[in-house]
Order: sequence, then C-alpha cells, then structure tokens
Amino acid sequence: NTPLHELDPAVAAAVDAELHRQQSTLEMIASENFAPVAVMEAQGSVLTNKYAEGYPGRRYYGGCEHVDVIEQIAIDRVKELFGAEHANVQPHSGAQANAAAMFALLKPGDTIMGLNLAHGGHLTHGMKINFSGKLYDVVAYHVGDDGRVDMAEVERLAKESRPKLIVAGWSAYPRQLDFAAFRRIADEVGAYLMVDMAHFAGLVAAGLHPNPVPHAHVVTTTTHKTLGGPRGGVILSTAELAKKINSAVFPGQQGGPLEHVVAAKAVAFKVAASEDFKERQRRTLEGARILAERLVEDDVRAVGVDVLSGGTDVHLVLVDLRNSELDGQQAEDRLHEVGITVNRNAIPNDPRPPMVTSGLRIGTPALATRGFTTEDFAEVADVIAEALKPSYDVEALRARVTALAEKHPLYPGLQ
Ligand code: PLP
Repeated sequence: NTPLHELDPAVAAAVDAELHRQQSTLEMIASENFAPVAVMEAQGSVLTNKYAEGYPGRRYYGGCEHVDVIEQIAIDRVKELFGAEHANVQPHSGAQANAAAMFALLKPGDTIMGLNLAHGGHLTHGMKINFSGKLYDVVAYHVGDDGRVDMAEVERLAKESRPKLIVAGWSAYPRQLDFAAFRRIADEVGAYLMVDMAHFAGLVAAGLHPNPVPHAHVVTTTTHKTLGGPRGGVILSTAELAKKINSAVFPGQQGGPLEHVVAAKAVAFKVAASEDFKERQRRTLEGARILAERLVEDDVRAVGVDVLSGGTDVHLVLVDLRNSELDGQQAEDRLHEVGITVNRNAIPNDPRPPMVTSGLRIGTPALATRGFTTEDFAEVADVIAEALKPSYDVEALRARVTALAEKHPLYPGLQ
C-alpha cells in the first residue's frame, strides 16, 4: 500500500506538474473539461480490479454483484437523462462507441456518409486512414460558404449513393444540426441515422440544445467533453437495436468493461441531471457567444482574424486565420505563451497542411466548470483578441490570465 509519491516519484511528479498546469492556466480546448472530484474518486476506486465481461445479470465472471448494481445505475441514469430506450455504457471511448455502433449496423464495404474532417467531422466519421474509412465506402458531405452544413448536398449525395448509414455529428462546428431533416433524408434512402453528440451532449442534457435521441436510430457520445465526466463512451439506441448494439460492444469490439469508469460515468450522469449543471451549461454557451462577438470586432478584423459562420450556437468558436499573419500553429503557440490552451484546427478550404492549419478551435466548457462568469469570459475574450494582434504584450496578458486563474481556484482540495 505504498503511496504513489513513494513508489514512483517520477510519475507522481509529472501528475503534480499536470495538476499545477491545469490550475494555473486557462483550459479552452473545446473537447476538455474538469471532472468533479467524486467522479475521479469513483474512477480511482477498487473497481479497477474487477473483470465483468457481459452485462448486468448476465456476466461471464463471478463476484459481479456490486458492479452489476453500479452498471445498472449508470444505464438507468443515462437513459433518463436523454430519454433513450436503450443504453450501453461500456465503450471505452467515443471512437470505440462509434466503431461498435457501425459494427452493429453495417457490413464491411457498406456505404456511409459523414461530415468531411476539414469541415468539422470526426476521424471516425469516415476519414481515410481511420477504421471507418478503411472498412466502409465513404461519401463525405460539407459545409457551404455560410459555414453551415449544406443539407441540399446531404440530400443529393444520399440519393446518389444510397448509404446504409448517415452520421450526423461533429468535432469542430459552431452551429446546431437539423436532426429532423437528417432523419427525413435517411428514411428516404433507407439508411440508419446515427448522431454523434460527443461534443454537445452536455448541452442536450441541460435542455439547451435539441436532443437527437427522438430522431436517430443510434446516438453515440463521449462522457468527458461538455458532459464533464470521466473519459469514455456511451451508445444510446432504440429498444429494437438493443441486442445488436450490446453484442457489437461485447463480444464484438471489447473484452472486460472498465467498471471503475462505468461508476464514474454513473456519478457524472447524476451531476448532469442537476440544476447546477444546467446553470454551468448556460454559462458555457454565454461564454462562447461573448468570445465570438469579441473576435468579430473591428480591431480584431483589422488584423485578419475572423469567426467561421459569424458566431456560435454551441460551446465553441472556430477562428478563421486565413487572412491573419498567424497560421493555426503560431496562434496556438501565441495563446499558450500567455497561458491559454487551445488547439489549432483545419478549417473548410484550408490552404495550409493539417499540422499547421489556418484555424483555432476555442471552447468554454472547462472554464464554465471552473466558475467563470460572463464578466470573466469577457475578460478572457479580450485577452485572446489582444494576443492575436502583432503588437501583443506577453507579460501584461499573462498577468491577466493569472488573475483569472487565481480568482477561480481549481481543485482547491488537491495538492
Ligand atoms: N466523436 C466526436 C464527435 C469527437 O469529437 C470525438 C473526440 O474528439 C470522438 C468521437 C472520439 O472520442 P475519444 O477521443 O473518446 O475516442
């Protein structure tokens, strides 16, 4: 029972350094969040020791009576949260949830449609060297000149290619999708509709974003983005598809479930049903709106910075740097220098290669979890606007970042 600091000082020191980094900088990677201490407690529990292949009540191992209780709580809570008929809480990640959902509904060689990666789609929606691009015949749809998914193109491509599955969902898109329109098109061509709500699941849980569940055959999500739980995945589906989904996850894709993560998911779903969570998601949206508004003001436009689609309806803003002196890499580095963490991101029709890009993706979920108010978000937005100008003052901006970080201590109980 030797504690980590004694047993492995090298790993312990890096963990401590990471805690300090999270506490002292501003986390604005749109797919990240800060899990509650109770979630981390569940995830760091003795459940990590348990094998539980199978599902509650039907396991292939003995001694599952307690993990059965936990997994059933997680299933019941997530079904209730999103109004789903069936839930599988075992996928180890969002990518594995998508792989299992596709495995359940498709055969290799079937045609799928997904949003092009550079237009905001995810790797698992049909990128060439991802499993989805290798196993399936992919027809990608795009955003139009207004930065919004071109539903006329979706309909045309669906009619031409008659896919077996249409994926609606995104990793970098600042607007809401029309799930009813996607379903109408899917029905017209006899396709399944799968919505990947990994990014916006927290907003859906809070009732601040349309819920895809009533429209889709299958909905996948991660649990660690806006939802604010442990790293992991979930698949929701109609009751009719329950068996197919379950057997695609286990034994189709995975072995033993991570019951410590399943327990942490259960705790996160309880948190996500609370009033506090709703209030936090409201601040998340408000923060993103404030940021988008600041980044289209004249002084920022004058240095060639713009916002894709002109604003946002969700928790992130996509910055267009095509006319700026900074490329995506340089802008990411610039913000890192002042203590703000974001990621560079390819944008539609990006003239630069994927490792450089001409875009930034900036999200507000983690800062909202930290307690940032609308005034704090206005200050963050101004720091970002100033940092993207050629005349930026590193020391002054870093001091403003530090003041914000100190105003909202993160994990004050942890060392
Ligand atoms: N789906 C979407 C839309 C995502 O944005 C992501 C992660 O970025 C994933 C799936 C994959 O999640 P994970 O990283 O847990 O595999």
